[in-house]
Amino acid sequence: MDKNLKIFVAGHRGLVGSALVRNLESKGYKNIIKKTSSELDLTDTLKVFEFFETEKPDWVFLAAAKVGGIHANSTYPVDFMLTNLKIQNNVIEASHKFGVKKLMFLGSSCIYPKNAPQPMKEECLLTSELEPTNEPYALAKISGICLCDAYNRQYGTDFMAVMPCNLYGISDSYHNENGHVLPMFIRRFHEAKLEGKKEVTIWGSGTPRREFMISDDLADACVFLMETKTAKEVGKFVNVGTGVDLTIMELAQMVAKTVGWEGEIKLDPTKPDGTMKKMVDVTRLKNLGWEAKITLEEGLKIAYDDFLNNENTRLN
Ligand code: GDP
Repeated sequence: MDKNLKIFVAGHRGLVGSALVRNLESKGYKNIIKKTSSELDLTDTLKVFEFFETEKPDWVFLAAAKVGGIHANSTYPVDFMLTNLKIQNNVIEASHKFGVKKLMFLGSSCIYPKNAPQPMKEECLLTSELEPTNEPYALAKISGICLCDAYNRQYGTDFMAVMPCNLYGISDSYHNENGHVLPMFIRRFHEAKLEGKKEVTIWGSGTPRREFMISDDLADACVFLMETKTAKEVGKFVNVGTGVDLTIMELAQMVAKTVGWEGEIKLDPTKPDGTMKKMVDVTRLKNLGWEAKITLEEGLKIAYDDFLNNENTRLN
């Protein structure tokens, strides 16, 4: 692989984007373009076009997105739909207009129907109703998959899409209410330990099942696919997951153990459960030649160390 390829990682400060940069750098890629949102507003079409015209990247990883947990998705549905549609439309259109050779669009497993058979296969996209708590976000992501596929069909581009399971890891966001469940647990159990609390309350029934992957594993899968596959080989999109899930209560117990807190875990049934099961089928990915390497136990230690070492990322 040409290590001098010009690679634009959109969203390089985020959970996924920062893992992509680490992975690319570890593989010797030297020419990675990074822009913060204040340097380049990806919702601004003209600015994005100007940037692509000047930089002419060879590859693009589209990891910039408005993301958040179940509470944030329900509270800010417009932001989750409109900001994501704007960012992805601009970056995908500019990538075609300015000759990007390969693009990878990062989605999410919440694109699947609420009652999709488990584990969720790529084929079950758009077969029935979405989970209402994140429908606006899911529809934006589905549009992104569709737009990449449309460009491939109409213009012969090589734009791929990957749909990861729930993610966590280095540079995660630990904002209290709006965050995803795993970083929220790290923060809550850590604070409980510091404050000597005997009880910690988690949302919902504790019974929904989720699949968690560390962002470094996702990044490795993405770089592997970009280096070795074409969009035709990948199909409309491919799931990325570990093939292992657990209940929210089991996750809480694992996080408590990692953090070193002992006490009673209580439930708050007034808070939503969201979809009851969300595991992706990773058969297509395995057949393409990639499998997850880092277990949840190992990954939780990495994430907690990063949390402890970066005071100021906790509330971003
Ligand atoms: P989702 O996987 O897209 O639904 O998003 P989340 O990462 O927000 O996970 C939500 C699941 O974790 C739901 O079943 C919640 O009831 C449960 N959960 C338990 N405690 C918390 C919490 O403190 N924050 C969040 N976001 N979810 C929680």
